[in-house]
Amino acid sequence: MNLKEYYQKVNSEKSKSQDVAWLIKEVSNVEPFLWGETELTPQLVSTLDKGIKRLSSGEPLGYILGYVPFWNCKILVTPDVLIPRAETEQLCELVVDRVSGENLRILDLCTGSGCIAVALATQLNCKVVATDISEAALKVAKQNAVINNAQVDFICGDLFKNVSGKFDVIVTNPPYIAEEEKEILPSSVLDFEPHIALFGGDDGLDFYKRIKDNVRPYLSPRGMIFMEVGDTQAERIVDIFDKDFDCEIISDYFGFKRFVIARSRK
Ligand code: GLN
Repeated sequence: MNLKEYYQKVNSEKSKSQDVAWLIKEVSNVEPFLWGETELTPQLVSTLDKGIKRLSSGEPLGYILGYVPFWNCKILVTPDVLIPRAETEQLCELVVDRVSGENLRILDLCTGSGCIAVALATQLNCKVVATDISEAALKVAKQNAVINNAQVDFICGDLFKNVSGKFDVIVTNPPYIAEEEKEILPSSVLDFEPHIALFGGDDGLDFYKRIKDNVRPYLSPRGMIFMEVGDTQAERIVDIFDKDFDCEIISDYFGFKRFVIARSRK
């Protein structure tokens, strides 16, 4: 059997066809236009079969392969970290577009896999510090900095705990799913991704409130906070920051209000 025949054989679930194709391409390291002339070895069949089985159990492709592409980087993922999403690439783009100046200090809160910190460190000539409460996540994040040749200082702690100094830019994609949304989450998320990285309290806003309440000592005058938010949360997050910050809501490429930038008035 060649790779093309294998693809046709296993590709029964339409919705997964892209994942199946990507899995075959990554595992075999053969481009799709060559599949028809690439014979399978027993070893490759066995590796592919295992991957296909995991895909059909609902496991996200990122965990099966152990990595995802993220912006200009390759990001390793394990079940200890959230799989980086396309919106988060847009958050990084937003930071790069809006931030000018060299040697600024950037803090990434809830870094998880480190995707944001690593991507920004490779793009900007700035000092990047990243924190997470999970030791296990930080282990992955540190590997990601190494493989992408990014200079990032990692700190283990809850939000600002163990952080010192002031930052010109704070960026975060914190856990923001509301407890009540648990029921409607797809099982590929609920059963496989770390709950500590997903849920942000009853209304999903706990982290934004805690950031607002504690950020002052860590933010430079006129410093900016770039936040990824749930698609129904932007206005409520503006309400949280409104008194002391000038806020701007930005939509993602699909038109959902997925980012809030808060600039300190002081
Ligand atoms: N910062 C990481 C990401 O954007 C992790 C986010 C999180 O754990 N909530 O993917």
